[in-house]
Amino acid sequence: VEDFDVVVVGGGPAGSTVAWALRDSGLSVLLLDKQAFPRDKTCAGWITPAVIEALDLDLEDYRRERVLQPIHGFRMGMMGGRVVQNDYGAQPVSFGIRRCEFDHYLLARCGAQVRDDWEVREATREGDRWLVNGVIRARLLVGAGGHFCPVARRLGARLGREEAVVAAQEVEFAMSPEQVRRCGTQARFPELYFCTDLAGYGWVFRKGAYLNVGLGRRDSHRLGEHLSAFCTQMREAGSIPDSMPDRFKGHAYLLYDCAPRTVVGEGVMLVGDAAGLAYTQSGEGIRPAIESALLAAATIRVAAGRYGLDRLRRYQDSLVARFGPRRGAGARGAPAPSRAKRWLAARLLASPWFTRAIVTDQWFLHRQQVGLKPMKMNEKN
Ligand SMILES: Cc1cc2nc3c(=O)[nH]c(=O)nc-3n(C[C@H](O)[C@H](O)[C@H](O)COP(=O)(O)OP(=O)(O)OC[C@H]3O[C@@H](n4cnc5c(N)ncnc54)[C@H](O)[C@@H]3O)c2cc1C
Repeated sequence: VEDFDVVVVGGGPAGSTVAWALRDSGLSVLLLDKQAFPRDKTCAGWITPAVIEALDLDLEDYRRERVLQPIHGFRMGMMGGRVVQNDYGAQPVSFGIRRCEFDHYLLARCGAQVRDDWEVREATREGDRWLVNGVIRARLLVGAGGHFCPVARRLGARLGREEAVVAAQEVEFAMSPEQVRRCGTQARFPELYFCTDLAGYGWVFRKGAYLNVGLGRRDSHRLGEHLSAFCTQMREAGSIPDSMPDRFKGHAYLLYDCAPRTVVGEGVMLVGDAAGLAYTQSGEGIRPAIESALLAAATIRVAAGRYGLDRLRRYQDSLVARFGPRRGAGARGAPAPSRAKRWLAARLLASPWFTRAIVTDQWFLHRQQVGLKPMKMNEKN
């Protein structure tokens, strides 16, 4: 049996960031992921400047061998309605990345011992330690395994049951020169269209020569039909090429407001999707994954080797201070909006002021919330 101070389960943005933020802490950190990297993750690959700041990402280094698409605004509206374009000018307001590259880059620089292709099947409590798959012992277990994280299950999450999830599907592919010619979506301005029942939105997102098309909804019922109707509309509008792959990949995750997950226990904490942290209005999950990882690492440092619940509650408190109190499971099933509400929504989504000041600035870019910065070497607070 091998011993570590901290074992992180999952090497997505949340897990690699916990490890990276502990790289100079003096703690022995092991990160385990069931997949062999580089691996892909079902995602549109849109990140906000706050992500870059929190990761202290060197953009010049990153873009040398990877796709980094600057985004200068969005085209949006209600499906079938008027389209509005918000142009923020020269300074990018977001970036497009490919998750197979982004996650691998973060993992490679995290500074921890990494074992990929290594699935965590079992974590049992033995005194004040965890025993993982019977062969690795840890004083602290960090669950960063995404929505279906086995550590979340250990903390009582009823995966796939009694949880109101966002269900989303996407396809990402390298366009042929012919497809590039027939793709009307501009890389600088991703396109977002809200479903007429306001339960979700579809996107067309061009990142260099790659195109990502997808749709996410709070209600997984008839997701495929919504997606295919959306693709038909986009094809007719010339936003996507006539012929493209139709092997859409799906995944579920939780929105912050209605995620019922417990995030800390004796010697254990959850970060990122495992904790159900994606922003409620936009579904953006990478920024909360990374910010929760920085907050978790700050708690781990302060805990100074004692990982009882009394010490780890500080992390739970810092999540509430950062993201606000959760509204609870009651927030899950907002009833279908009335005709009057839909009419109003269609008007608002056709308004340049509303789509910029509310939808983009507040719901998507969270400009009102200053980004978190990574901790300095040996900083404890
Ligand atoms: C279709 C779709 C589009 C999205 N688009 C965006 C977007 O554009 N921007 C955005 O910010 N967010 C987006 N999201 C949400 C975003 O993808 C997630 O919030 C984000 O990936 C969460 O990061 P994470 O590190 O918590 O989990 P993940 O990225 O899911 O990483 C979890 C890791 O844990 C590993 N793992 C799981 N189980 C085990 C196990 N038993 N043992 C070992 N390892 C394990 C997995 O292999 C994986 O590598 C989208 C989601 C979907 C479904």
